[in-house]
Amino acid sequence: MADKFFSMRNLKFLLYEVFDTASLTRYPYYGEYDRKMLDMVLQAAEELARGLLWPYYQEMDRNPPELVDDVVKVHPSVKKALKELGQGGWIAMTVPEELDGQQLPEIIADSCKFIFCTANYSGAAFSGLCDGAARLIENFGNRELYDAFVPNMRSGRWQGTMALTEPEAGSSLSDITTTATPTENGYYHIQGQKIFISAGDHDGVENVVHLMLAKIKGAPSGVKGISLFAVPKKRISEKGELVSNDVLISGIFHKLGYRGCPTAQLSIGDNNDCRGYLVGEPHNGLRYMFQMMNEARIGVGIGAAAMATAAYYASLDYAAVRKQGRKIEEKNPAKGCAQNNILHFKLDLSNMRTRQLA
Ligand SMILES: Cc1cc2nc3c(=O)[nH]c(=O)nc-3n(C[C@H](O)[C@H](O)[C@H](O)COP(=O)(O)OP(=O)(O)OC[C@H]3O[C@@H](n4cnc5c(N)ncnc54)[C@H](O)[C@@H]3O)c2cc1C
Repeated sequence: MADKFFSMRNLKFLLYEVFDTASLTRYPYYGEYDRKMLDMVLQAAEELARGLLWPYYQEMDRNPPELVDDVVKVHPSVKKALKELGQGGWIAMTVPEELDGQQLPEIIADSCKFIFCTANYSGAAFSGLCDGAARLIENFGNRELYDAFVPNMRSGRWQGTMALTEPEAGSSLSDITTTATPTENGYYHIQGQKIFISAGDHDGVENVVHLMLAKIKGAPSGVKGISLFAVPKKRISEKGELVSNDVLISGIFHKLGYRGCPTAQLSIGDNNDCRGYLVGEPHNGLRYMFQMMNEARIGVGIGAAAMATAAYYASLDYAAVRKQGRKIEEKNPAKGCAQNNILHFKLDLSNMRTRQLA
Protein backbone atom coordinates (compact mmCIF):
# COMPACT_ATOMS: atom_id res chain seq x y z
CA MET A 1 0.00 0.00 0.00
CA ALA A 2 1.35 3.42 -0.95
CA ASP A 3 2.51 5.48 2.00
CA LYS A 4 1.99 8.77 0.21
CA PHE A 5 -1.51 10.02 -0.58
CA PHE A 6 -0.82 13.62 -1.55
CA SER A 7 2.12 15.96 -2.09
CA MET A 8 2.62 18.78 0.41
CA ARG A 9 5.14 20.30 -2.00
CA ASN A 10 2.53 20.52 -4.76
CA LEU A 11 -0.08 21.88 -2.38
CA LYS A 12 2.24 24.60 -1.09
CA PHE A 13 3.25 25.50 -4.64
CA LEU A 14 -0.42 26.10 -5.46
CA LEU A 15 -1.15 27.91 -2.22
CA TYR A 16 1.82 30.24 -2.09
CA GLU A 17 3.17 30.60 -5.60
CA VAL A 18 0.06 30.30 -7.76
CA PHE A 19 -2.45 31.91 -5.37
CA ASP A 20 -0.25 34.03 -3.06
CA THR A 21 -2.25 32.82 -0.06
CA ALA A 22 0.19 34.27 2.46
CA SER A 23 -0.83 37.78 1.36
CA LEU A 24 -4.21 37.19 3.06
CA THR A 25 -2.47 37.46 6.41
CA ARG A 26 -1.97 41.19 5.74
CA TYR A 27 -5.73 41.69 6.30
CA PRO A 28 -6.59 42.46 9.93
CA TYR A 29 -9.14 39.59 9.97
CA TYR A 30 -6.32 37.05 9.41
CA GLY A 31 -3.70 39.12 11.28
CA GLU A 32 -3.15 36.36 13.86
CA TYR A 33 -1.59 34.22 11.14
CA ASP A 34 1.62 34.35 9.14
CA ARG A 35 3.11 31.99 6.55
CA LYS A 36 4.86 29.93 9.23
CA MET A 37 1.65 29.41 11.15
CA LEU A 38 -0.27 28.45 8.03
CA ASP A 39 2.43 25.86 7.31
CA MET A 40 2.04 24.53 10.82
CA VAL A 41 -1.72 24.15 10.29
CA LEU A 42 -1.13 22.20 7.07
CA GLN A 43 1.46 20.05 8.80
CA ALA A 44 -0.91 19.29 11.67
CA ALA A 45 -3.66 18.41 9.16
CA GLU A 46 -1.32 15.91 7.49
CA GLU A 47 -0.43 14.33 10.83
CA LEU A 48 -4.10 13.96 11.73
CA ALA A 49 -4.93 12.54 8.31
CA ARG A 50 -2.09 10.05 8.59
CA GLY A 51 -2.99 8.95 12.12
CA LEU A 52 -6.78 9.17 12.20
CA LEU A 53 -8.10 8.61 8.69
CA TRP A 54 -5.54 6.94 6.44
CA PRO A 55 -5.17 3.70 8.44
CA TYR A 56 -8.89 2.92 8.07
CA TYR A 57 -9.83 3.83 4.53
CA GLN A 58 -9.63 0.28 3.22
CA GLU A 59 -11.47 -1.25 6.19
CA MET A 60 -14.21 1.37 5.89
CA ASP A 61 -14.61 0.69 2.19
CA ARG A 62 -14.73 -3.08 2.66
CA ASN A 63 -17.06 -3.01 5.67
CA PRO A 64 -19.72 -0.39 4.94
CA PRO A 65 -22.18 0.73 7.64
CA GLU A 66 -24.95 -1.66 8.64
CA LEU A 67 -28.45 -1.05 9.93
CA VAL A 68 -28.81 -3.30 12.99
CA ASP A 69 -31.91 -3.04 15.23
CA ASP A 70 -32.68 0.49 14.03
CA VAL A 71 -29.10 1.64 14.70
CA VAL A 72 -26.62 2.47 11.93
CA LYS A 73 -23.29 0.96 12.89
CA VAL A 74 -20.22 2.65 11.39
CA HIS A 75 -16.52 1.87 11.67
CA PRO A 76 -15.29 2.60 15.25
CA SER A 77 -12.71 5.06 13.90
CA VAL A 78 -15.53 7.49 12.99
CA LYS A 79 -16.23 8.22 16.65
CA LYS A 80 -12.55 8.75 17.43
CA ALA A 81 -11.98 10.94 14.38
CA LEU A 82 -15.00 13.17 15.05
CA LYS A 83 -13.96 13.58 18.68
CA GLU A 84 -10.37 14.52 17.87
CA LEU A 85 -11.30 16.76 14.94
CA GLY A 86 -13.89 18.49 17.13
CA GLN A 87 -11.57 18.98 20.08
CA GLY A 88 -8.78 20.24 17.84
CA GLY A 89 -10.97 22.94 16.26
CA TRP A 90 -10.98 21.27 12.82
CA ILE A 91 -14.79 21.47 12.58
CA ALA A 92 -14.57 25.23 13.13
CA MET A 93 -11.65 26.19 10.90
CA THR A 94 -13.23 29.27 9.27
CA VAL A 95 -15.53 30.16 12.17
CA PRO A 96 -14.75 33.60 13.70
CA GLU A 97 -12.78 33.63 16.93
CA GLU A 98 -15.69 35.27 18.76
CA LEU A 99 -17.63 32.03 18.13
CA ASP A 100 -14.69 29.91 19.32
CA GLY A 101 -13.46 29.19 15.80
CA GLN A 102 -9.99 29.26 14.24
CA GLN A 103 -10.75 32.15 11.83
CA LEU A 104 -8.58 30.61 9.12
CA PRO A 105 -8.75 31.68 5.47
CA GLU A 106 -11.16 29.50 3.48
CA ILE A 107 -8.39 28.39 1.11
CA ILE A 108 -6.34 26.98 4.00
CA ALA A 109 -9.40 25.29 5.51
CA ASP A 110 -10.21 23.77 2.13
CA SER A 111 -6.60 22.60 1.78
CA CYS A 112 -6.88 20.83 5.14
CA LYS A 113 -10.15 19.24 4.00
CA PHE A 114 -8.38 18.18 0.81
CA ILE A 115 -5.65 16.51 2.89
CA PHE A 116 -8.28 14.69 5.00
CA CYS A 117 -10.11 13.58 1.84
CA THR A 118 -6.94 12.23 0.21
CA ALA A 119 -6.40 10.06 3.30
CA ASN A 120 -9.95 8.73 3.53
CA TYR A 121 -12.78 10.38 1.61
CA SER A 122 -15.74 8.84 3.38
CA GLY A 123 -14.04 9.22 6.77
CA ALA A 124 -13.63 12.96 6.13
CA ALA A 125 -17.28 13.47 5.12
CA PHE A 126 -18.73 13.31 8.65
CA SER A 127 -16.93 16.39 9.98
CA GLY A 128 -17.53 18.33 6.75
CA LEU A 129 -21.28 17.87 7.14
CA CYS A 130 -21.17 18.97 10.80
CA ASP A 131 -19.34 22.12 9.72
CA GLY A 132 -21.81 23.11 6.98
CA ALA A 133 -24.91 22.30 9.03
CA ALA A 134 -23.65 24.23 12.06
CA ARG A 135 -22.93 27.26 9.87
CA LEU A 136 -26.58 27.33 8.72
CA ILE A 137 -27.70 27.77 12.33
CA GLU A 138 -24.88 30.25 13.04
CA ASN A 139 -25.78 32.46 10.10
CA PHE A 140 -29.56 32.20 10.04
CA GLY A 141 -30.79 30.79 13.38
CA ASN A 142 -31.42 32.58 16.67
CA ARG A 143 -29.29 32.43 19.80
CA GLU A 144 -31.49 29.77 21.41
CA LEU A 145 -30.97 27.40 18.47
CA TYR A 146 -27.27 28.19 18.42
CA ASP A 147 -26.87 27.29 22.09
CA ALA A 148 -28.96 24.14 21.76
CA PHE A 149 -27.12 22.66 18.78
CA VAL A 150 -23.99 24.35 17.46
CA PRO A 151 -21.41 23.74 20.23
CA ASN A 152 -22.22 20.00 20.20
CA MET A 153 -21.95 19.86 16.39
CA ARG A 154 -18.68 21.76 16.29
CA SER A 155 -17.17 19.57 18.99
CA GLY A 156 -17.96 16.40 17.00
CA ARG A 157 -20.34 15.04 19.66
CA TRP A 158 -23.41 15.49 17.45
CA GLN A 159 -23.57 14.86 13.72
CA GLY A 160 -25.01 17.53 11.40
CA THR A 161 -26.70 16.73 8.10
CA MET A 162 -28.39 18.39 5.15
CA ALA A 163 -31.81 16.83 4.60
CA LEU A 164 -33.29 18.02 1.32
CA THR A 165 -33.92 15.07 -0.98
CA GLU A 166 -37.14 13.03 -0.90
CA PRO A 167 -38.12 9.84 -2.72
CA GLU A 168 -40.11 11.93 -5.21
CA ALA A 169 -38.02 15.13 -5.16
CA GLY A 170 -34.32 15.32 -6.01
CA SER A 171 -33.39 18.12 -8.43
CA SER A 172 -36.98 19.28 -8.21
CA LEU A 173 -36.96 20.55 -4.63
CA SER A 174 -40.06 22.66 -5.20
CA ASP A 175 -41.99 19.35 -5.08
CA ILE A 176 -41.00 18.32 -1.54
CA THR A 177 -43.92 17.09 0.56
CA THR A 178 -42.43 17.05 4.07
CA THR A 179 -44.74 19.22 6.15
CA ALA A 180 -44.32 21.40 9.23
CA THR A 181 -47.39 22.12 11.36
CA PRO A 182 -47.05 25.06 13.76
CA THR A 183 -47.82 24.48 17.46
CA GLU A 184 -48.58 26.92 20.25
CA ASN A 185 -45.25 26.03 21.85
CA GLY A 186 -43.10 27.60 19.17
CA TYR A 187 -41.89 24.39 17.58
CA TYR A 188 -43.40 22.62 14.56
CA HIS A 189 -44.59 19.04 14.08
CA ILE A 190 -42.65 17.60 11.14
CA GLN A 191 -43.87 14.70 8.99
CA GLY A 192 -42.39 13.23 5.83
CA GLN A 193 -39.66 11.15 4.20
CA LYS A 194 -36.08 12.05 3.31
CA ILE A 195 -33.74 9.92 1.25
CA PHE A 196 -29.97 9.76 0.43
CA ILE A 197 -29.05 11.71 3.59
CA SER A 198 -25.28 11.49 4.06
CA ALA A 199 -24.32 10.58 7.65
CA GLY A 200 -28.09 10.60 8.29
CA ASP A 201 -27.61 8.42 11.36
CA HIS A 202 -24.79 6.51 13.05
CA ASP A 203 -23.50 5.22 16.35
CA GLY A 204 -20.33 7.36 16.31
CA VAL A 205 -22.24 10.28 17.86
CA GLU A 206 -24.77 10.86 20.65
CA ASN A 207 -27.23 12.69 18.43
CA VAL A 208 -27.86 13.78 14.85
CA VAL A 209 -29.19 17.22 13.87
CA HIS A 210 -30.87 17.36 10.48
CA LEU A 211 -31.01 20.75 8.78
CA MET A 212 -34.21 19.89 6.96
CA LEU A 213 -36.34 21.48 4.26
CA ALA A 214 -40.11 21.30 4.81
CA LYS A 215 -43.23 23.25 3.89
CA ILE A 216 -45.26 24.96 6.57
CA LYS A 217 -48.95 24.07 6.20
CA GLY A 218 -50.65 26.69 4.03
CA ALA A 219 -47.35 28.00 2.60
CA PRO A 220 -47.16 29.26 -1.00
CA SER A 221 -46.53 26.51 -3.55
CA GLY A 222 -43.13 25.91 -5.15
CA VAL A 223 -39.75 27.03 -3.82
CA LYS A 224 -41.27 30.14 -2.19
CA GLY A 225 -43.03 27.90 0.34
CA ILE A 226 -39.95 26.02 1.59
CA SER A 227 -38.68 26.63 5.12
CA LEU A 228 -35.60 25.39 7.00
CA PHE A 229 -35.82 23.47 10.29
CA ALA A 230 -33.40 21.98 12.74
CA VAL A 231 -34.77 18.50 13.39
CA PRO A 232 -32.76 16.47 15.91
CA LYS A 233 -32.91 12.71 16.14
CA LYS A 234 -33.12 13.17 19.90
CA ARG A 235 -34.54 16.33 21.44
CA ILE A 236 -33.75 17.77 24.82
CA SER A 237 -36.63 17.04 27.23
CA GLU A 238 -37.94 19.41 29.90
CA LYS A 239 -35.69 17.51 32.34
CA GLY A 240 -32.66 18.24 30.14
CA GLU A 241 -32.33 14.64 28.92
CA LEU A 242 -32.02 13.46 25.33
CA VAL A 243 -35.24 11.69 24.28
CA SER A 244 -36.40 10.26 20.96
CA ASN A 245 -37.73 12.83 18.49
CA ASP A 246 -39.57 10.33 16.26
CA VAL A 247 -36.99 10.28 13.44
CA LEU A 248 -36.58 6.69 12.27
CA ILE A 249 -34.09 5.17 9.85
CA SER A 250 -35.97 3.15 7.27
CA GLY A 251 -32.93 2.11 5.23
CA ILE A 252 -29.32 2.81 4.27
CA PHE A 253 -27.59 2.87 0.90
CA HIS A 254 -23.97 2.42 -0.13
CA LYS A 255 -22.45 4.80 -2.63
CA LEU A 256 -19.37 3.93 -4.64
CA GLY A 257 -16.30 5.83 -3.43
CA TYR A 258 -18.20 6.81 -0.32
CA ARG A 259 -18.98 3.49 1.26
CA GLY A 260 -17.71 4.29 4.77
CA CYS A 261 -20.32 7.01 5.19
CA PRO A 262 -23.93 5.87 5.65
CA THR A 263 -26.52 7.30 3.30
CA ALA A 264 -29.83 7.11 5.12
CA GLN A 265 -33.52 7.14 4.40
CA LEU A 266 -35.47 8.87 7.17
CA SER A 267 -39.11 8.48 8.24
CA ILE A 268 -40.00 11.58 10.14
CA GLY A 269 -42.97 11.96 12.50
CA ASP A 270 -44.59 8.55 11.91
CA ASN A 271 -45.93 8.79 15.48
CA ASN A 272 -46.78 12.48 15.16
CA ASP A 273 -44.11 13.30 17.73
CA CYS A 274 -41.30 14.92 15.74
CA ARG A 275 -40.45 18.48 16.73
CA GLY A 276 -38.69 20.79 14.31
CA TYR A 277 -37.31 24.22 15.14
CA LEU A 278 -37.61 26.93 12.50
CA VAL A 279 -34.27 28.39 11.34
CA GLY A 280 -34.61 32.05 10.29
CA GLU A 281 -37.76 33.31 8.62
CA PRO A 282 -40.53 31.09 7.22
CA HIS A 283 -40.44 30.39 3.46
CA ASN A 284 -36.77 31.40 3.10
CA GLY A 285 -35.44 27.87 3.60
CA LEU A 286 -34.13 27.15 0.14
CA ARG A 287 -32.25 30.44 0.07
CA TYR A 288 -30.56 29.54 3.37
CA MET A 289 -29.90 25.98 2.29
CA PHE A 290 -28.05 27.20 -0.79
CA GLN A 291 -25.24 28.23 1.56
CA MET A 292 -24.70 24.57 2.51
CA MET A 293 -25.43 23.30 -1.01
CA ASN A 294 -22.79 25.60 -2.46
CA GLU A 295 -20.29 24.55 0.20
CA ALA A 296 -21.14 20.93 -0.60
CA ARG A 297 -20.52 21.59 -4.30
CA ILE A 298 -17.04 22.91 -3.49
CA GLY A 299 -16.62 19.92 -1.17
CA VAL A 300 -17.50 17.51 -3.99
CA GLY A 301 -14.86 19.19 -6.17
CA ILE A 302 -12.28 18.93 -3.39
CA GLY A 303 -13.26 15.29 -2.86
CA ALA A 304 -12.89 14.47 -6.54
CA ALA A 305 -9.45 16.11 -6.74
CA ALA A 306 -8.48 14.35 -3.49
CA MET A 307 -9.51 10.89 -4.68
CA ALA A 308 -7.72 11.39 -8.00
CA THR A 309 -4.61 12.53 -6.11
CA ALA A 310 -4.63 9.51 -3.77
CA ALA A 311 -5.21 7.21 -6.76
CA TYR A 312 -2.26 8.81 -8.58
CA TYR A 313 0.12 8.15 -5.68
CA ALA A 314 -1.16 4.57 -5.32
CA SER A 315 -0.52 4.03 -9.06
CA LEU A 316 2.89 5.65 -8.85
CA ASP A 317 3.81 3.41 -5.95
CA TYR A 318 2.66 0.32 -7.85
CA ALA A 319 4.57 1.35 -10.97
CA ALA A 320 7.68 1.89 -8.87
CA VAL A 321 7.64 -1.53 -7.21
CA ARG A 322 6.41 -3.70 -10.10
CA LYS A 323 9.34 -5.12 -11.98
CA GLN A 324 8.73 -6.18 -15.55
CA GLY A 325 10.50 -6.22 -18.91
CA ARG A 326 14.15 -5.93 -19.83
CA LYS A 327 16.51 -3.02 -20.16
CA ILE A 328 15.97 -1.37 -23.49
CA GLU A 329 19.37 -2.47 -24.81
CA GLU A 330 18.92 -6.05 -23.49
CA LYS A 331 17.74 -8.20 -26.39
CA ASN A 332 18.01 -11.58 -24.63
CA PRO A 333 14.60 -12.69 -23.23
CA ALA A 334 16.37 -15.18 -20.92
CA LYS A 335 17.71 -12.25 -18.86
CA GLY A 336 14.25 -11.71 -17.24
CA CYS A 337 12.95 -8.70 -15.33
CA ALA A 338 15.41 -5.96 -14.75
CA GLN A 339 13.58 -2.81 -13.81
CA ASN A 340 10.34 -1.23 -12.75
CA ASN A 341 7.91 0.73 -14.91
CA ILE A 342 9.14 4.11 -13.75
CA LEU A 343 12.62 3.32 -15.07
CA HIS A 344 11.08 2.32 -18.41
CA PHE A 345 9.29 5.63 -18.50
CA LYS A 346 12.40 7.61 -17.63
CA LEU A 347 14.43 5.69 -20.22
CA ASP A 348 11.79 6.32 -22.87
CA LEU A 349 11.87 10.02 -22.08
CA SER A 350 15.66 10.21 -22.26
CA ASN A 351 15.62 8.24 -25.54
CA MET A 352 13.11 10.70 -26.95
CA ARG A 353 15.29 13.62 -25.89
CA THR A 354 18.37 11.98 -27.41
CA ARG A 355 16.47 11.43 -30.65
CA GLN A 356 15.34 15.04 -30.68
CA LEU A 357 18.87 16.31 -30.08
CA ALA A 358 20.16 14.06 -32.83
C1 LIG B 1 -22.82 11.10 -2.96
C2 LIG B 1 -24.17 11.72 -2.72
C3 LIG B 1 -24.49 12.25 -1.48
C4 LIG B 1 -25.74 12.83 -1.27
N1 LIG B 1 -26.00 13.34 -0.03
C5 LIG B 1 -27.19 13.97 0.18
C6 LIG B 1 -27.47 14.58 1.44
O1 LIG B 1 -26.65 14.54 2.36
N2 LIG B 1 -28.66 15.17 1.61
C7 LIG B 1 -29.60 15.23 0.62
O2 LIG B 1 -30.65 15.83 0.84
N3 LIG B 1 -29.37 14.66 -0.59
C8 LIG B 1 -28.18 14.03 -0.83
N4 LIG B 1 -27.93 13.45 -2.04
C9 LIG B 1 -28.99 13.45 -3.05
C10 LIG B 1 -28.80 14.54 -4.07
O3 LIG B 1 -29.10 15.78 -3.52
C11 LIG B 1 -29.68 14.17 -5.25
O4 LIG B 1 -29.14 12.99 -5.82
C12 LIG B 1 -29.71 15.28 -6.28
O5 LIG B 1 -30.47 16.34 -5.79
C13 LIG B 1 -30.33 14.79 -7.61
O6 LIG B 1 -31.58 14.22 -7.37
P1 LIG B 1 -31.94 12.75 -7.89
O7 LIG B 1 -30.86 11.81 -7.49
O8 LIG B 1 -33.33 12.44 -7.43
O9 LIG B 1 -31.88 12.85 -9.47
P2 LIG B 1 -33.02 13.45 -10.45
O10 LIG B 1 -33.50 14.76 -9.93
O11 LIG B 1 -34.08 12.39 -10.66
O12 LIG B 1 -32.18 13.64 -11.75
C14 LIG B 1 -31.85 12.53 -12.60
C15 LIG B 1 -31.26 13.09 -13.87
O13 LIG B 1 -32.22 13.94 -14.54
C16 LIG B 1 -31.66 15.22 -14.78
N5 LIG B 1 -32.70 16.22 -14.59
C17 LIG B 1 -33.39 16.47 -13.46
N6 LIG B 1 -34.28 17.46 -13.66
C18 LIG B 1 -34.15 17.85 -14.94
C19 LIG B 1 -34.80 18.84 -15.76
N7 LIG B 1 -35.77 19.62 -15.27
N8 LIG B 1 -34.41 18.98 -17.03
C20 LIG B 1 -33.42 18.18 -17.54
N9 LIG B 1 -32.77 17.23 -16.83
C21 LIG B 1 -33.14 17.07 -15.55
C22 LIG B 1 -30.54 15.37 -13.76
O14 LIG B 1 -29.53 16.26 -14.21
C23 LIG B 1 -30.02 13.94 -13.66
O15 LIG B 1 -29.12 13.67 -14.69
C24 LIG B 1 -26.70 12.87 -2.30
C25 LIG B 1 -26.40 12.32 -3.55
C26 LIG B 1 -25.16 11.77 -3.77
C27 LIG B 1 -24.86 11.20 -5.13
